[in-house]
Formats: sequence, structure tokens, C-alpha cells
Amino acid sequence: MSTSARVRADACPGVFATHDAADGPLARVRLPGGAITKDQLRVLADAADDLGDGALHLTSRGNVQLRGVTRPGLASRLSAAGLLPSPSHERVRNILASPLSEVAQRLAPALDKALCAVPELAELPGRFLFAFDGGRGDVAGEGADVCWRDGALLLDGTDTGLRITTENAVEALISVARNFLRVRGTAWRISELPATEPLLRDIPGETVKPQTFATKPGLPIGPLGDAIGVAPVFGRLTSGQARQIAKAGDAVVTPWRSILVRGKLESRTGLITDPQEPALGVSACIGRPGCAKSLADVRADAARIGRTPRAHVAGCERRCGKPAHEHVDVLATEDGYLVDGAWVPVGELAKTLAEKGTQ
Ligand code: SF4
Repeated sequence: MSTSARVRADACPGVFATHDAADGPLARVRLPGGAITKDQLRVLADAADDLGDGALHLTSRGNVQLRGVTRPGLASRLSAAGLLPSPSHERVRNILASPLSEVAQRLAPALDKALCAVPELAELPGRFLFAFDGGRGDVAGEGADVCWRDGALLLDGTDTGLRITTENAVEALISVARNFLRVRGTAWRISELPATEPLLRDIPGETVKPQTFATKPGLPIGPLGDAIGVAPVFGRLTSGQARQIAKAGDAVVTPWRSILVRGKLESRTGLITDPQEPALGVSACIGRPGCAKSLADVRADAARIGRTPRAHVAGCERRCGKPAHEHVDVLATEDGYLVDGAWVPVGELAKTLAEKGTQ
């Protein structure tokens, strides 16, 4: 880890500590397991209209960001809607859960409750990430520090060999987090520790030979029984789209910037519902003009890309929101883009990426 990373303060934004972006204060609202009720969705849609830029920006951790929050009153609205159950813990409620797994969706709120009940865990770094994977390997590959994967305990994506029952899963993840706080020093993530054995102290479970599990992003898009998976372009859900979803029912925001809507969605305007849609292959950071660090209007350029292998377009080397899985790296420069390190002019970006798909 770089020295600068060690001395910098934990700058993960929340609702109380917003990030000062070029388009105004940015607030991140944590949704453990991505779960959001229809009433909470309406509250966020109203807050986006009344206080922010009119949209809900979905993140790669299944959370929602409001941008340009220049007017006061967000925290009180979110508290009243049950979206801020513990102000002291708001930035550490980072919990992924497989959207289609009943057990994972049940464990996420249970962990959230247990996490908020332990005062010392408010000191976890805002980057520390928990995950519950129902066994599909969908969220297990999303870079969580600690993941319960259908009984297997994974640290930084690697199987520890410990097997934990569903009943003990929440307690086990809480124990890992407590142990991490004891040994972390200045580390923010488990991947920064020299050894992970101390994290397994006092965790009861059966020990087996560690396995290598396959992982695969979930991205549930289209009809799925009584639900439907939809994706707003670049994860920007307008307040109007959010209200349409709320009309249909409760929802789950996925780490792939899509939404699983539990109900019948009458209007799908502007939402991607076809799993073959080329736009699903491209993600992009906010870029210009929202971010002062960006060297380009990356979303405008990314919107001109057609069919491509999974690609992420970023305005600077921080590469915000890049996928955890394999993808083509597209990085803005002063006068074009680096595609996996090779420079191309803006006008040839779409062609270059299309060719990557045929190689
Ligand atoms: S990757 Fe860079 S340009 Fe894009 S949002 Fe992050 S900091 Fe801004």
C-alpha cells in the first residue's frame, strides 16, 4: 500500500459527510443487500428532485448516490424513512447480497442490525465490504473483504476452509470485523494485511480443504418470475423512473447498477430490459462536468460505443466504479483514450472496442 494511502483520512462519503464534487455535494445512501422498499424509493426520488440533481445514481456496491445536494434536509428525510438507522454506523453499512437469493437477502438486514448494535464497529473503514452470496458466485466476485458464500467463509475472495451454518453466518462476519479492527493498524481492507489467520479467531465452524469457487456477475435483466430486472443507462435512474419502480413494488439495487423490481412494471421508459442490449456492456464514471478530475465527458463518449466486450470508461486514473470482473480498461487522456493501455482518438473508440470483441 502506498504511503499516501496510509496517511489519508477515510474519505468515503455518506449522508452527513458528503463529498465535494464539481457538481456540488455528493451524498451516498447505504442500502444493505441493495434492498429498498417502495416507500423508501419514493423518498429518495423526492429528495433527488427537491435537494439534488433529480436522479438516483446507482453504485457498484448496490448503494445510491445523490449528486448536487445543495439544499439541506436530506438526513431528516432519510431518517424518517428508516434509511439511516444508526448515524454513527452509516458509512460502514456496506453489505452486498445476491439479489436473487432468499437466504442472502435475509442475512443482509440481519447483519446490518447486528453491525449497528456494536459501537466499536462504527470505526470500521468505510471501504470495508461484507457480502452474502447464496451460492451462484455472483456477489462473491465483487471484492468483498469478508463473504459468506453458501456456508463457505471467504476472506478477500479466498476460501478460508471454514464452513459456517446459515444460523451462525451473521455472527461469523461480525467476529471477522471485530478481529480486523484489533489487527488492522492503518489498513483499510483485508487485502492490506500481512496475514489473515488472526481474523478467524473465535469463529466456530467446521474446517475443510479450501476450494476455488467460480464467480460470475449476476446482472439479472428482463422478466424473472414475478419480478423484472432493469438497468438505467450508466446507472442514472431518474426520479420519474424511480417512482415508476416504486409503483410496481419493493426493489433490490444490484452491484451491477441494475434493479430487481418485485412487481409489475408498467412503464419502462429509458430502462434497459433486454439482456442483449449493447449498452449493458459499458459502464462509465461520472466524468465531466460532474467531476473536476475528469479529462473528458466520458459518458457522452461511452454512449457512442456499440457492441463491446465488458468495458469501463474512466475520466482519470482513479477509475471510479470499475467492475470487479474482467473488463477492457478505457481511460481518458488529454486528447483521446487509452484502451488497455493503447492510445486511440475519440473518433475510433467505438471501432476499437468492437474489434476487441472479435479478437
Ligand atoms: S474516475 Fe476520476 S474522473 Fe471519474 S469520477 Fe472518479 S475521480 Fe472523477
